[in-house]
Amino acid sequence: MSPTRRPEPRPEIMGVAPYLGGESHVPGVSRIIKLSSNEGAFGPPPAARAAIAESAHDMSRYPDGSARALRDAIGAHFGLDPARIVCGNGSDEVINLLIQAYGGPGTELLMSAHGFSIYEIFGTLAGGKVRKLPEQELVADIDAFLGAVTERTRLVFIANPNNPTGSLLPLAELRRLREGLPPEVLLVLDGAYAEYVDRPDYDGGVSLVDAGENTVMTRTFSKIWGLGGVRLGWCYGPPAIVDVLNRLRPPFNISKAAAAAGIAALSEPRWAEHSRAHNHAARARVTEALRAMGIRVWPSEGNFVLADFDTEERARAADAWLRRHGIIVRAVGSYGLPHCLRITIGTDEECTILIDTLREFAESNAPWDTARG
Ligand SMILES: *Cc1c(COP(=O)(O)O)cnc(C)c1O
Repeated sequence: MSPTRRPEPRPEIMGVAPYLGGESHVPGVSRIIKLSSNEGAFGPPPAARAAIAESAHDMSRYPDGSARALRDAIGAHFGLDPARIVCGNGSDEVINLLIQAYGGPGTELLMSAHGFSIYEIFGTLAGGKVRKLPEQELVADIDAFLGAVTERTRLVFIANPNNPTGSLLPLAELRRLREGLPPEVLLVLDGAYAEYVDRPDYDGGVSLVDAGENTVMTRTFSKIWGLGGVRLGWCYGPPAIVDVLNRLRPPFNISKAAAAAGIAALSEPRWAEHSRAHNHAARARVTEALRAMGIRVWPSEGNFVLADFDTEERARAADAWLRRHGIIVRAVGSYGLPHCLRITIGTDEECTILIDTLREFAESNAPWDTARG
């Protein structure tokens, strides 16, 4: 037997770097403020914690494979038809299922240059071609998307608000995109941060889903609902696409604990309103404070800001300084933004510590201040 013979995976798999999540530890530092994964500032709603504990009593039985009670709760909360909702083990799973169903070899997936990295990872793993399109000032450029469509284009992904830039496209621009795309191209609007947006014309993508048969909206319990560890996401889509996803998804992809947590989270009075109001105020405070230090902060509609330190060297120095003080933020070099750090909006106390620590950094780096004039 030749020693080199062994099972080999499909070639595209080894070409993909494994997804890197936000870090949570710094060696030698005991008190950590984790602002690296956009997890909601307040953790899980108390009702969700209780529901997870309660669900432990019933773990010998398989969950309901259709997640009926959870879909009913989501439908009631967001005013959507439960029959048109598909739940997933995180919205990442839903995104993967959509790509498995409509992408693959011979097809193209379009995303913007600094779009969410999971689209590229899953698109490549599925054997399709992923094309990243130029942006205008870190905002997805609809004309670039429309100009890039070929007969092989099957999928277009836009996170709105986008991670890691925080940018938001107005509904009119999304409508223009949808109208300009061929009807057989599936447009996926990723609303992972939808609950944080308070703009009158924003609906997370519902009106575009309802307007046709080729747009899907994905959502998650990992951000404002504080349940990233539970793994729970969902999508709202046209009946034909929902049917496809229900054939493709693993039969018991939503655990009993996850379903119970999701239902309970939605029942927590004013959770999203309270979290959104906090985020709005705290994000403005962080943004203004950083700008006063001479750090550029890109406008954000999410629960994070993208802080721009001009150079990679400066961003690395700021990252190292924050770590030394127990604050973990997200380096975004893998997104082609090595001069930036993505900072999650935490509690008021965490924001204060972040601001004070960054101010010390800025003040101890006087040459940089002068260089910026
Ligand atoms: C966090 C995030 C997700 C993934 O959420 P899960 O539901 O935890 O898988 C999807 N899209 C964007 C843009 C995100 O930032």
